[in-house]
Amino acid sequence: MKVLIADQINQKGIEELEEVAEVVARTDITPEELVDDIKDFDAIVVRSRTKVTREVIEAAPSLKIIARAGVGVDNVDVEAATERGIMVVNAPESTSITVAEHTMGLVLSMSRKIAIADNSVKEGKWEKSRFMGMELNSKTLGIVGMGRIGSQVVIRAKAFGMDIMVYDPYITPEAAAELGVEVVDLETLLVNADVITIHVPLTPETKYLISKPQFKIMKENAIIVNCARGGIIKEDDLYDALTQNEIGGAALDVFETEPPKESPLLQLDNVVLTPHIAASTSEAQRDAAIIVAKEIKKVFQGESPKNVINMPVMDPETFQLIKPFFGLAEKLGKFLIQTAQGNINELDITYCGELAEIQKHDIITRMILQEVLNPILTEPVNLVNAPGVAKNRGIIITEGKRSDSKGYKNLISIKMKADNNEVSVEGVFDKEPKIVMINNYQVDVETKGTMVIVCYKDIPGIIGSIGTKLGEHDINIAKMQVGRQQPGGEAVMVLKVDQNVSRDVEDDIKALAHVYDAVSVNL
Ligand code: NAD
Repeated sequence: MKVLIADQINQKGIEELEEVAEVVARTDITPEELVDDIKDFDAIVVRSRTKVTREVIEAAPSLKIIARAGVGVDNVDVEAATERGIMVVNAPESTSITVAEHTMGLVLSMSRKIAIADNSVKEGKWEKSRFMGMELNSKTLGIVGMGRIGSQVVIRAKAFGMDIMVYDPYITPEAAAELGVEVVDLETLLVNADVITIHVPLTPETKYLISKPQFKIMKENAIIVNCARGGIIKEDDLYDALTQNEIGGAALDVFETEPPKESPLLQLDNVVLTPHIAASTSEAQRDAAIIVAKEIKKVFQGESPKNVINMPVMDPETFQLIKPFFGLAEKLGKFLIQTAQGNINELDITYCGELAEIQKHDIITRMILQEVLNPILTEPVNLVNAPGVAKNRGIIITEGKRSDSKGYKNLISIKMKADNNEVSVEGVFDKEPKIVMINNYQVDVETKGTMVIVCYKDIPGIIGSIGTKLGEHDINIAKMQVGRQQPGGEAVMVLKVDQNVSRDVEDDIKALAHVYDAVSVNL
């Protein structure tokens, strides 16, 4: 395996990678050289200098993983990577402490007027009475968004004796209880907080989350801090609030336009501004390099990385629970694509029994889709791009859960609608994956080798004629099972055979009297 280090990263990350791969550091590689040379690499590590564009991705037939040693992935074309089945990983947790510390720095800088006092002393002044500060002890800190960074701010603010209020509609009561914070609605937070700090992602929901109406209800000496993303605070409205003394001050590390060259905020005394450096410490960079190196190692060793931007993430325990069902999903997917007549239009997947209790089915569904789509497409389909490819092909996927699993511990039930037929199949995992139902007929089929599935009218002599026909083609039957709903009705026969079965043999069987359909499947 070969890894390209395209931007300067901490040596510790390189050492991790050298344990499993050939590492090539070309930290001055130009965009043109990257397009030419990427073809030889299985992984690339970037920080923010190198842009992993669609052109680069399309020139990289061996690339499996793009690692951003940091948080944002703005310099990676994630859509293009996803289309090609390339994982994009980052190191979101690497900067949490660093950003939380910067947040506290900005809070103190505002509450004790440190930055402006510094300027004044450097101008030769000694204006002691001008810089009356505010203690943080016993003040209320309102945290908007209590994820990785918000949680670290809680810990630090508590050490300052602050009371904490959190607004985050997505955190669990357990997470709030663990950190001992009061969860409130946004209005309550804004009305009561002496210091407000923002730690949410920039989404359509959080764009201008803090604008005129929100400033209007804040305390008149409130301080607001944003180390998250520009655009969460509406800067025009912030300017008005600051100049009309509706709030006490603001500290920003991020801006709607960076750098904020034309911003009127630059003229104000009651603001502290830093140039998007909240995440910039050598410790955060070291941790980011180590985290992404470990992610790449995991991928090379066939394990599941945890910070994949373009694939569902799961904790190691859930991964262990789900792992055995990958094999079953793979076999069911292979079965379906070989029995489909024409394009597949719909897949209705139900997870039953113990599988119904596992939350992250998405990854099992991806495995089924991967197996269904891979044989029919030239582009490689894998766990990353399978849902997108299925969507582009207009396949409707429905997923459901059922506690009843027909007496098995677990069961995956799939109904497939193709242009010219409908097939249903059910499989279970019990030491090995096996198929227990085909088109409503109960069977018990191991998922190995070749099988021939024949639908026929249940009348005497048919089984013999099918066996004879296979014999004529030198195909040996190793095992046979039949399923029927009632004597004389439609029946299904599953024959495990020792040789591959060609289309001609299938057609010969189909031509037999009272045979409705015959298909062979290699699992
Ligand atoms: P995170 O995903 O761990 O946490 C985000 C939290 O926001 C989650 O708990 C989520 O439930 C909550 N949230 C989402 N939408 C919300 C809404 N509408 N209202 C309230 N809460 C909401 O993210 P993180 O790693 O803690 O990062 C937080 C922010 O910091 C992000 O915007 C990130 O881009 C930014 N960041 C900035 C820098 C920097 O250099 N300034 C560095 C790293 C991260």
